Amino acid sequence: MSVPVSPKRLRSEFVRKVKELSGENIQLCYQCGMCSGVCPAAPDMDLSPRQVIELARLGMQEEITESKTAWICATCLACTVNCPRGFDLSKLMEAIRLLTLRKNVDHVRPEQIPPEERDDIPQIAMVSGLRKFTG
Ligand code: SF4
Repeated sequence: MSVPVSPKRLRSEFVRKVKELSGENIQLCYQCGMCSGVCPAAPDMDLSPRQVIELARLGMQEEITESKTAWICATCLACTVNCPRGFDLSKLMEAIRLLTLRKNVDHVRPEQIPPEERDDIPQIAMVSGLRKFTG
């Protein structure tokens, strides 16, 4: 993947907020790819977890928020327990979801869930899903 990098992007508000909301030091990552290798959801992602970290570090907000990766992340923590650098990727994914939802861009519209499907969804799954996917 070829991405245009600029000093302005590296110091962008997006990078600052990602660091602040996640509480993680994204500079810790040395791109070994272990997180992508152990992630059970990686085959369904358009950006691998490793790529998301690199793009976040480079301030590539649009590329990240247009990706479905943060929404597919199930916060299983397989990446976190296997990262040789102790980086908690689940916190980065949560920060990315929050930054998107704060723009009032809901990832799921409850009214668009067909009633027959809604009846089959366990209440606890519905509540946690709405917490994750809506602002
Ligand atoms: Fe970076 Fe850790 Fe993933 Fe390796 S496992 S790419 S160090 S976040």
